[in-house]
Amino acid sequence: MPKPQNAMTIFKLLDKSNCRQCGEKTCMAFAGAVFTGRRPLSECPRLDRNIIEAYSDDPQNRHDVEQNRDDFLEQLKNQIKGVDLKAAAGRSGGRYEDNRLTVKVMGKDFSITPAGVFSTDIHVNSWVAVPFLNYILYGKGLDPTGDWRSFRELTCGREQYPLFQKRCEEQMKQVADGYTDLFDDMVQMFSGKQVDPQFQSDISVVLQPLPKMPIMVCYWLPEEGMQSSLNVFFDQTADQNLDIGSIFSLGVGLAQMFTRLARRHGLAMAS
Ligand code: SF4
Repeated sequence: MPKPQNAMTIFKLLDKSNCRQCGEKTCMAFAGAVFTGRRPLSECPRLDRNIIEAYSDDPQNRHDVEQNRDDFLEQLKNQIKGVDLKAAAGRSGGRYEDNRLTVKVMGKDFSITPAGVFSTDIHVNSWVAVPFLNYILYGKGLDPTGDWRSFRELTCGREQYPLFQKRCEEQMKQVADGYTDLFDDMVQMFSGKQVDPQFQSDISVVLQPLPKMPIMVCYWLPEEGMQSSLNVFFDQTADQNLDIGSIFSLGVGLAQMFTRLARRHGLAMAS
């Protein structure tokens, strides 16, 4: 398959029914998510398997998806060049010093210069970098209210919730079921804070992937005849401080990070 030049090239592969089975509102929205690397093409259940295989197995195509994601990141970095970072620091809960804006990402400094150059002690994954930039560029900077919402209650969250549940909440639950130190690690390694259990859960931990974007993970232990469960909650201001795609990326990125951590401790996990 030729390298897709834009989301329209991917859109042309789809059946254009807007059936929403992928969790996106339209085929065009799904094509955009594939183009920027947020979704794999295989998540459209109506797409011919041969096309998916041709796209997924070809290292060139995998490279193209990564390239698209990098291009998208570069576009966002370019937009930073026109932003008043001092004003953005006040809005975002960061600080402006030494000619750079710094905010805390999971308790660690994450900085950007007016030229769009990152400096940080943590690894710059796209699941962190894209939300970070969207938060600086477009976030309203509202202070959290302490009123928690599930992903599906956020603006535009309902359509994407089935996929969020599968790739974030279910994935984290599998980790928590087998790796008992998960919540201690959230507190000690990722600057989380154990809070009084919410919603009658057994454990509640609040993580801070961005200063005004707290995420609360609640875990219910298994009980007689009932499986364990895990839900992720966001402050009711979350969808005004960050777009739903970036909120999705943060949740799924955290789940992937915890999965890798559990594997390093020998826990066998489904991929
Ligand atoms: S599942 Fe496929 S056909 Fe249906 S809306 Fe999503 S991309 Fe379009």
